[in-house]
Amino acid sequence: MSNTSTPRRALNPVAGDTVVTETAAPSRALPTPDAGPSPLRLGFVALAAGAVATAGVGVTVAASHAAAETSGSTGAGSSDIDAARDARLTSGALAAFTSRSSERESLAADAETAVDARETALSATAETVRTASVTALSTSRQKALVSTAQTITKEEQKRKSEGWEPGGKNPSFLRPVAGGSFSSPFGWRTNPVTGASELHSGQDISIGCGTPIRAPQDGTVTFVGWYGSGGNALRIEHGTYNGKDIMSGYYHAESYIVSVGQKVTRGEIVGYVGTTGTSTGCHLHYMIFEDGTNVDPVPYIASS
Ligand SMILES: [Zn+2]
Repeated sequence: MSNTSTPRRALNPVAGDTVVTETAAPSRALPTPDAGPSPLRLGFVALAAGAVATAGVGVTVAASHAAAETSGSTGAGSSDIDAARDARLTSGALAAFTSRSSERESLAADAETAVDARETALSATAETVRTASVTALSTSRQKALVSTAQTITKEEQKRKSEGWEPGGKNPSFLRPVAGGSFSSPFGWRTNPVTGASELHSGQDISIGCGTPIRAPQDGTVTFVGWYGSGGNALRIEHGTYNGKDIMSGYYHAESYIVSVGQKVTRGEIVGYVGTTGTSTGCHLHYMIFEDGTNVDPVPYIASS
């Protein structure tokens, strides 16, 4: 090892006691591998090889050091050069190891962040798809509702423009007067004037005198004239509906503006409401005959 005749500037690795007799930094004295085939160089090469081949940093340094020692170095300062080299290599390897570790950690963290971001994006996409389908559904529902509302409005406007409501039993039959209210119904009753039991042959619709009476359906006038307690009466033959011959009749009118044999069309004004004959007030006594028989006309009249 070190020659005792030369000034010591060795670093005692055991005691940590450093005796430095020169001020020159040990690193400056460290020769490069190109310095020649010296034992020192061999040691360096062995050390470098060990550092590359071996994973264990501490073991590498220890082995290299041993190699340098056993190569027969007798040069002054070889021991402290070894120590300095060891220190540098150790710190270099540690720095590389630490750098690798933190690089690995950084990569892992980056991967985790990327996965998180992907998950968030997927979740957002799923939410977008869900929202879009809900929106599409509600839009289609809304369109259907609007369409229905428009249809209803059109029907209402049509009815209003005609002034009639369609009948229930045969919707093609119009209400003979616009508005008014149902009073005495069709059926057996005690006559409010004579007190006798009788069949009330029609539906009374209370409505102001002078209100237009319209033909509920196309037809031909078969009777116009005075009809006893029925006052001014009218009958219109409409032809066959639902397999039955349908005729409509009217009592108590103020007047009629049609004559027997005249063709009338649906909605055409045929006369005006009055209170002629046996009557207690302005109203229309409306009748429907199916195959010549008096029936309740209500199914042919809308409720309002
Ligand atoms: Zn009546």
